[in-house]
Amino acid sequence: MLKLDGLMVSNKLRESLSENIEKWSQASGRRPGLTVILVGNDPASEVYVSHKHKACQKVGIQSEVIKLAHDTQMEQLKQTIETLNLDKQVDGILVQLPLPSHLNEREALETINPKKDPDALTIENIGLFFGGEGRVKSCTPNGVMEILKYYDIPLSGKKAVVIGRSKIVGLPMFNLLQQANCTVTLCHSRTADLKEHTLEADIVVVAAGKPEFLGKDDFKKGAVIIDVGIHRKQVDGKNKLVGDVRYDELEGWASAATPVPKGVGPMTITMLLKNTFDLARDQG
Ligand code: NAP
Repeated sequence: MLKLDGLMVSNKLRESLSENIEKWSQASGRRPGLTVILVGNDPASEVYVSHKHKACQKVGIQSEVIKLAHDTQMEQLKQTIETLNLDKQVDGILVQLPLPSHLNEREALETINPKKDPDALTIENIGLFFGGEGRVKSCTPNGVMEILKYYDIPLSGKKAVVIGRSKIVGLPMFNLLQQANCTVTLCHSRTADLKEHTLEADIVVVAAGKPEFLGKDDFKKGAVIIDVGIHRKQVDGKNKLVGDVRYDELEGWASAATPVPKGVGPMTITMLLKNTFDLARDQG
């Protein structure tokens, strides 16, 4: 079985991104800029934001994190975003989700200028993306496509199954695979017989958010398995990361698969960096 090494692909992409950013910065006299707004102090969000900040610095993107108190009101959040919309040094604005429950996520996202939306979460960018004309593509699904491209996995005419229909993973994944000429089936928690679909598929992308819930018996021999899930599990008192798929079972059965960790995970931030740079180039 071929291990689809997302960490290696991600490192290669970041290397070439860093070189391109350096050249562009010298020519334009400025660096691409990403500002992340973090409301409250959710520990998982703080970790994600710090990873994004460090990754930006490594490739030469100017990064700022604006921390707002948990009890920030909608008007203040919108004002913060509007100020960034007008700032010429800021090419990408990211509101770290989830927001505290008293804030309206959709209203916050719609305040972002769509030309500064590297997560492709504004309605305008979702529409452009599904119409095949997106200025940026959703980060995690686009990361999956980059892994498939790097390993030359044939897509055209293949049967693909996507498990999960979230706005950030499943739905955009469905869209990118159909754009790549796969015949795609989208499964979710109300799918009557999941296995009936997965056993037919040449490529399965699993994004159900259920720790280790699928294994060898759920897939056709020779299938390509992409595991988007990330979960923390306690093994012998230690924290271990696992996915939605029991990776160890796939050896000798799947033709290729992404491990967890070091599979899809690192690609998400890499695509965020790429999108921020693309938006900076668009803005000049
Ligand atoms: P989500 O919003 O919770 O969506 C989960 C989806 O899976 C839903 O559409 C749900 O169906 C479906 N589902 C749940 N149980 C199912 C089952 N038994 N059979 C079939 N479908 C089922 O999750 P998400 O944000 O898409 O994330 C999915 C996983 O990916 C999580 O583990 C998350 O941590 C991980 N993730 C990883 C990255 C990365 O960078 N690698 C990025 C984002 C997310 P319904 O719509 O019917 O409820």
